Amino acid sequence: MASLRGSRFVFVALIVASCGGDDASTADSPLPATATPSVPGKSDVATPASTSASRGIVSTDLVLDLTTRTGRATLTLETGSLPPTFEVGDLRIDAVSTSSGTVVGHSRSAEGHLVVDVTSRTTKLIIEYGFSKHGHFDGWDATPGFTFLWPDHCGNLFPCHSAPADGTTFSLEVLGVPEGQTAVYPREVPAAAPAYQLGIAVGPYLYEPLGTTPSGTEVGVYFTSATRAAALTGASRLPEYFAFLEQTLGDYLYGKTVASVAVDWGPGDFGGLEHHPFWHIDDGQIGDPYTHAHEAAHGWFGGAVRMACWEDFVLSEGTSTYLAARAIEAVDGPTAGAALWQVFGTELLEMIETGDDTVAWLPDTCNAISIAEHPLWSLAVYYRGAFFLRAVEAEVGRAALDATLAELYRRHGGASAAGVPDLLDLIEDSTGFDPSDLATLWLLSTGAPPGL
Ligand SMILES: [Zn+2]
Repeated sequence: MASLRGSRFVFVALIVASCGGDDASTADSPLPATATPSVPGKSDVATPASTSASRGIVSTDLVLDLTTRTGRATLTLETGSLPPTFEVGDLRIDAVSTSSGTVVGHSRSAEGHLVVDVTSRTTKLIIEYGFSKHGHFDGWDATPGFTFLWPDHCGNLFPCHSAPADGTTFSLEVLGVPEGQTAVYPREVPAAAPAYQLGIAVGPYLYEPLGTTPSGTEVGVYFTSATRAAALTGASRLPEYFAFLEQTLGDYLYGKTVASVAVDWGPGDFGGLEHHPFWHIDDGQIGDPYTHAHEAAHGWFGGAVRMACWEDFVLSEGTSTYLAARAIEAVDGPTAGAALWQVFGTELLEMIETGDDTVAWLPDTCNAISIAEHPLWSLAVYYRGAFFLRAVEAEVGRAALDATLAELYRRHGGASAAGVPDLLDLIEDSTGFDPSDLATLWLLSTGAPPGL
């Protein structure tokens, strides 16, 4: 996840002072403090399962040729009366057919979406197309070789629905990989995921298996010769972080082999992106254990538990930030955990003092913002969300909060999107503690809460 702001370029997936605190916020102008914030109930907020004005995509089966830059997408659709439409960015659509081979008509809507002329009974389409090189973190970047689809650029690589609530499984085959290079990508994403989750990295990659968790997940790391030392240092305890997440939240849904992948996003960029099961971490951050833990946590929140709306960004980022700190504490010890929280607090206070603070949740709209251009895309949201969960933990106890997060994952993981109200309601239902005041303090207000 990233956005261009002049020459500044910051990544969502990650944080911490060691990675460059001065570039830690993307908020150009903080939202005003909410005068009398209140926490809406679930019924007050529109959280549609799908925000696309079309039939949902159940599965996306892709064959991509990186040399000819052509693709074939086989899309399995929900049944329904709406005509299928897809975001197709700057794709060149060559042909559309049904699974039986019947060529069908298609057109572009005023918004540039592909509209396919088929009956309501048609549930499988094959779309052949060409795709372009992109160099601005908005599609397939051939040099040095990675995809970047967050937040809504999937249409520059394959026909898709980019709304975060829209989940699809994937299969993928990548052809035309240059001689001497390796394409790192999942052959299968077996549980529903948001469209931006699919990722490909191409380079002279080497792989090191690091260990297998008690649940049987092989955890490894991909790197180049230039990033080998840092990658092995940063990921040295990744299997234990991953095991902590499995044991705390429940079984992982995206396969039995996972890895961090070092990618070269260029100078000045940092962070990672949750391309589960092979998530990307920028070269500059690949040596930082926290980044590995944070991206791993997105396999549960932000991946399997999809955001209902971009306005629920904190449910993905705040929760992953909190869980990464918990994993670090559990594996590396209380001192390492405390040091991380110290960094979170210091950076949030700096953002408050410099006017880069923002509320962490926008409860009144759904997908009314462009997240990459909105102040909500701020590390303040990561920290506020993490501190909110830490404050809830202090009230209900660690075990009760863990059980609540595990239950949220059990209900929604790979199945349906969730919004912040789902988390708040579940906290109250499962623990008896009403988190509204803490949500007001940490998520709906700006400024420094007491004790920060
Ligand atoms: Zn993240």
